[in-house]
Amino acid sequence: MQTFKGIKIVNGIAIGKIKIYKVPVYTINEELVSDTEAEIDRFESARVKVQEQQNALACKVSKEEAGIFEAHAMMLDDDDLIDSCKEIIESGHSAEYAVREGFDAAAKMFSEMEDEYFRARSADVIDLKNSMLDVLFGTDTESLQGNEPAILVAEDMTPSDTVKLDKSLLLGLVTRQGSSNSHTAILARSMNWPTLIQCHDITDDCDGKFAILDGYNSCIYVEPEQYLIDELSAKQAEDKAREAKLKELKGQPSVTKDGYKVRLYANIGGPKDVAAVLENDAEGVGLFRSEFVYLNSKTDPTEDEQFAAYKKVLEGLAPRLVIIRTCDIGADKTIDYMHLGKEDNPALGFRAVRICLNRRDFFKRQLRALLRASAFGNLGIMFPMIISRWEVQECKEILEECRQELKAEGKAMGENIEIGIMIETPAAALCADELAEEVDFFSLGTNDLTQYTCAIDRQSANLERFADTHHPAVLKLIRETIEAGHRHNTWVGICGELGADPTLTEEFLKWGVDELSVNPKSILPLRGNVRNVDLSKYETESPKPEAKPEIKPEVKPEVKAEKPKGFFGRLFG
Ligand code: PEP
Ligand code: MG
Repeated sequence: MQTFKGIKIVNGIAIGKIKIYKVPVYTINEELVSDTEAEIDRFESARVKVQEQQNALACKVSKEEAGIFEAHAMMLDDDDLIDSCKEIIESGHSAEYAVREGFDAAAKMFSEMEDEYFRARSADVIDLKNSMLDVLFGTDTESLQGNEPAILVAEDMTPSDTVKLDKSLLLGLVTRQGSSNSHTAILARSMNWPTLIQCHDITDDCDGKFAILDGYNSCIYVEPEQYLIDELSAKQAEDKAREAKLKELKGQPSVTKDGYKVRLYANIGGPKDVAAVLENDAEGVGLFRSEFVYLNSKTDPTEDEQFAAYKKVLEGLAPRLVIIRTCDIGADKTIDYMHLGKEDNPALGFRAVRICLNRRDFFKRQLRALLRASAFGNLGIMFPMIISRWEVQECKEILEECRQELKAEGKAMGENIEIGIMIETPAAALCADELAEEVDFFSLGTNDLTQYTCAIDRQSANLERFADTHHPAVLKLIRETIEAGHRHNTWVGICGELGADPTLTEEFLKWGVDELSVNPKSILPLRGNVRNVDLSKYETESPKPEAKPEIKPEVKPEVKAEKPKGFFGRLFG
């Protein structure tokens, strides 16, 4: 038996085989080749093979989705693309080099086109380039995750690698790198996969071996001894029983012993999470990270595609309040088709609302989609990474411009959309009084607030020791933001990971927090905590419930039909 230590991100036990997950990175030899005919043959057979793969995929999926793969297969017949690659080979280069150069040039050409549809084809060409390289390098990509349930072991996972995983085959996740506040860690928490990061010593030769990931002891046992198998299988069964017991809290109010009511909302990433919100009896959605709609798409999602995704969530959860955060792309959430360019300090760089305010058409597409979707549920719109009042004002002006346009187009929209901002920068927390005059609600993004207050890169694997999630400076900013919000009748929630920290629940309630938005799996345990709290012992300190700002009551919206259009409309719709 071998034991490898890591840092636990999600508790729990996973039992099964290990699968080493390796994203291929290709180094392309730039030396000239002598046998160009052989290279042309290699290029041709790779092209035919990828075409066959695309056609086979088209047969496996629904009629609508098949269109993507059929279009890919057709692109590989494009004479210009084929000729440009062959010319590169004829000038003495390898097939791999020709594919990289030829396909990159075609992708660049698409990305510079005026027409949105053609611009979006750039990502398809890049996808095809990767498939061509996989074939030329002889990589078996199907086996990346494998086709049986496994504990995945990876060097690190980007958010886009993670969203692509087949969740039904994932028992647990172990990375050699990673940090506890990264978006991959957040995704792991929301899916409740037992997860370890910084398990530096685990080696590739564990591939295929039987193992137990023990979140409680922050380690993974490879080829464990029988006593451990028995002990940890029993623990896993106990966990399942405890989870079943928590179900008894479904339908119960989230209220303290002395009658203080807090809203327990869920954090989600898209329409597929609606089921988890209902299953865990969340009272609403406090954070829909809309950037996952962008990350899940190969191309910049159109207004109709986004509308379909938002509508599905709003409709599925009506009359609950659903707060959709506008696109928070950038930093660790990078997307090729956004062409954001490299930055030395991406977390401090061009991200979130900064991109939206600089790329007005991009922003308006999302705001129009949100406004149209608001006809189908109870929507709140939230702007991320705010530092100044003018940013909020400009966001609201653009929103109003979209509203007027849609009105003129005769499109249905909801009436009372609450507007809020994330408080996730020290600047916003310290200016909370001023910002509260602009909005209906605040939501404290404690992940970034901690990163920016403590100067701790949330992505860094080396800072775990210094990353004090209960740092007094962060707690002070949280408390002061709640107080500032309440001075202006602005309600205040917490949607960062700290909201689910059971050791802070009582403190947050004492400070008068109005809403806690957490991953769906944390809703019922948190409700259990809330119901055990008695704030009457803090009589003089705690806020009077009647002093709490009112959150918009849940009103069943008048639902007006609007037909989803396009491929993504059907996919999400
Ligand atoms: C946060 O920063 O706390 C937050 C909720 O946003 P994200 O984790 O998506 O950056
Ligand atoms: Mg954030």
